Amino acid sequence: MASKMWQEAIETMPRAELKKLQSERLVAQVKRSYENVECFRNRMDELGLKPDAIKDISDLSKLPFSYKKDLRDYYPYGLFAVPMSQIKRLHASSGTTGKRIVVGYTENDLDMWSDCLARLFTGVGLTKDDIVQISFGYGLFTGGFGAHAGVEKIGATVVPMSTGNTALQIQTLIDFGVTAICCTPSYAMLLGEEIEKMGVKDELKLKVGIFGAEPWTDEMRRQIEEKLGIKAYDIYGLSEVMGPGVACECEAQAGMHIWEDNFIVEIIDPETGEVLPEGSTGELVFTSLTKEGFPVIRYRTRDICTLNFEPCACGRTHIRMNKPQGRSDDMLIIRGVNVFPSQIEEVLLKVAGAEVTPNYQIVVDRVNNTDVFEINVEMNENLFFDEVKAIEATEKKITAELRSMLGLGAKVHLVNPKSIERFEGKAVRVIDRRKLS
Ligand SMILES: [Zn+2]
Repeated sequence: MASKMWQEAIETMPRAELKKLQSERLVAQVKRSYENVECFRNRMDELGLKPDAIKDISDLSKLPFSYKKDLRDYYPYGLFAVPMSQIKRLHASSGTTGKRIVVGYTENDLDMWSDCLARLFTGVGLTKDDIVQISFGYGLFTGGFGAHAGVEKIGATVVPMSTGNTALQIQTLIDFGVTAICCTPSYAMLLGEEIEKMGVKDELKLKVGIFGAEPWTDEMRRQIEEKLGIKAYDIYGLSEVMGPGVACECEAQAGMHIWEDNFIVEIIDPETGEVLPEGSTGELVFTSLTKEGFPVIRYRTRDICTLNFEPCACGRTHIRMNKPQGRSDDMLIIRGVNVFPSQIEEVLLKVAGAEVTPNYQIVVDRVNNTDVFEINVEMNENLFFDEVKAIEATEKKITAELRSMLGLGAKVHLVNPKSIERFEGKAVRVIDRRKLS
């Protein structure tokens, strides 16, 4: 595979060297955080740990974890490690409960972040000759401005479209000769459906799509690639750790490289906090090595995932993460069974790809002390005009497959195309009414 690289020396650094670099950076990061971040210092002191106890990355597991809750407890700036005069940008995300979480970046942080994205864009074949439409939300959300800076860094032309107005999005893709797009995978599906309906696929110059900020499956990738006539790549990130670009796919489309010169990744048992052996499935934990404004040490992402230690065909040496299978806090427990929304998506795409869309909504309720588990799935337009019998047969097929995968009965309803609500391009996947009562 002959894809170009943005920072080849770093991206292909031998692993022994990479570990050495991580060790040096970890020692410095721990010292800096201890001196400047009260929350971290208190936790270290409680454990009787001083920064000089951390000599290399083999000492990582001695360090205390950090949590999303910390960002609320120290709202807004309490976890920053530099004075506000050095913070060049703030981003924030809305929590479903109470306070937002606020993150800050120094000039160097913004530079490092855009390099991570430049590695992605270069790795999937983009150059200064490309025109890239950013259809992530611009604003306090990290997606829009994050991707934007990466496009500018490689010298490509950026179209800062933001979210919404699908007709205008498509017109822009066509009129501006856009060659690459960044958005959520569910929005890419929606664009694909519209483009199919309008019959304008041939007018697109699109060749690449970069999709993230919500979970999606390989089957969904296949459908997006077909509908838009592109290669679709996955990107991972979260504001607390940096934003999109903590990990990115390469042309091999086989897992996302985690940029280990900037981040250390661990997989832990979400119950016990114990670090799990190579190849295990567990919770992703990140330590930032170079971030100055808002460093994180052993940050619990709640994403459940496995790492891939095999060398990649692209020649990069940085470890790969597979798609997160779900979040430990998104996991639904229905009648005692663990259910991840991603499992339902997998069934929908596998069983009834032609008859339904991957737009679904899980509704869980409790009636007479028993969990009621319903799934609404948007049927595609063809089935919509079909007869009731065909719809019932599809519902039955999905119900049977779900039962065999989850060992759990669900009521499956096919609903009209485009009837499930979308919020800022993101589909609302789970409504758990049990929590409201
Ligand atoms: Zn690769």
